[in-house]
Amino acid sequence: MADYDYDLFVIGAGSGGVRAARTAAATGARVAIAEDRYLGGTCVNVGCVPKKLYSYAAHFHEAFTDSAGFGWQLPQPAQFDWATLRDNKIEEIKRLNGIYGRLLDGADVRLIHGRARIVDAHRVEVAGETVSAAKILVAVGGWPWIPDFPGKEYAISSNEVFDLETFPKRFLVLGGGYIAVEFASIFNGLGSDSHLIYRGELFLRGFDHEVREFTRDEMMKKGVKLHFETTIESVEKQGDALKVSLTNGEVLEVDALLAATGRRPHLQGLGLDKLDIELNSDGTLKVNDRFETSIPSILALGDVTGAPELTPVALAEAMHMTRVHFADEQATALDYDNIATAVFCHPNIGTVGLSEEAAREEFDAIRVYTADFRPMKHTLSGSDERCLMKLIVDDASDRVVGAHMVGEDAGELIQGIAIAVRAKLTKADFDATVGIHPTGAEEFVTMRTPTRR
Ligand code: NDP
Repeated sequence: MADYDYDLFVIGAGSGGVRAARTAAATGARVAIAEDRYLGGTCVNVGCVPKKLYSYAAHFHEAFTDSAGFGWQLPQPAQFDWATLRDNKIEEIKRLNGIYGRLLDGADVRLIHGRARIVDAHRVEVAGETVSAAKILVAVGGWPWIPDFPGKEYAISSNEVFDLETFPKRFLVLGGGYIAVEFASIFNGLGSDSHLIYRGELFLRGFDHEVREFTRDEMMKKGVKLHFETTIESVEKQGDALKVSLTNGEVLEVDALLAATGRRPHLQGLGLDKLDIELNSDGTLKVNDRFETSIPSILALGDVTGAPELTPVALAEAMHMTRVHFADEQATALDYDNIATAVFCHPNIGTVGLSEEAAREEFDAIRVYTADFRPMKHTLSGSDERCLMKLIVDDASDRVVGAHMVGEDAGELIQGIAIAVRAKLTKADFDATVGIHPTGAEEFVTMRTPTRR
């Protein structure tokens, strides 16, 4: 690969790009990476990390209320200061940006600030320089997409919501996916009058139906106002407020409108249109299981390829790409089955494997085990929050093929269960596991009688 300036030129220093650059460099490859915005990409700057910090902030609200039954007396009402949260978050992100920079530096990866344009199969133009590379990796991620409606310019996306100048006392989110339910919960917890608008009859399409219904009920109990089977007709600005007219005739007045209607590949200005690179029908870059596009020296991974838009997926792809292209391994294709995921709505959702509906399609007979209970903490807190745990078992093999939870720290818990599901353990293995008492998690090993078949 010595005829080129670099062995690998990465475009985009997000989760996938940085991991690819570092792991490739560790094999001895000469690597450069270009980034025009911020180190760490969506996850660190306007995604997972700040979202989780804001979710923690929102949970305090309930914790203060819950504490009274345990004997705590706090000044009421507790005061929340948005600027403190926002500015502390900004400092923490700066710290993480610095860590990413040092990681690249320590790995001997050259960082170039600027938007790169691919000139041909082996050349990239960035910051006034033309650089050649044996392989070019596109890891530019996605960008929020907002549908058209009159007044669309008043909507913000997840790129802006973290840094609002003033706290929105009345908050509205359009969409029914991850970002919508998470932010409806976060702003509700922080004290906003929070509304969610979704075009279908029930949000979180693709998740287990019982999980979706349970989440709907719990979010409503917490005060989030859910408007299903409607969407935005128009938005007008009235002073500092937004008047949002819905297709069902309702009119809402709010201080901020977040559109959480999905993301699109962030390909503008990359020059790919001139290269005739093959795309999938949704506009993402088409790659094979070695992450090669239709031009084999141009690779792509992460959100830009239409893989599940999750940081750990991009990280796994990056490490796999390095194995295949730089460690000379005849690696088999990356396994995308049983990727666990969490949704940080309140209460949280954790899920791995098949939904009940998907399992019914795939197997002749299944057993479904459910536990729907009031967590012990709430016997004294007085909260009416409930918890749902659910296992789906293939009857013929006794294998647990799906595990779902809605409740406090569901993601933390399902991460462990995901190992068992991935390892193809059976319900008998779950039953033979002695529980940890007193926890909610022990329900996962003590559900003995199927709820239905
Ligand atoms: P999602 O794809 O999850 O959801 C998009 C939502 O917008 C869906 O409910 C969709 O409805 C709706 N929608 C799409 N088009 C329109 C339209 N024209 N009018 C009205 N509604 C519309 O995208 P998000 O933006 O929520 O998040 C992007 C991705 O980021 C997620 O898919 C996820 O992979 C990732 N993410 C992961 C998180 C986590 O791991 N906790 C957190 C946040 C994001 P319908 O279902 O009917 O198509």
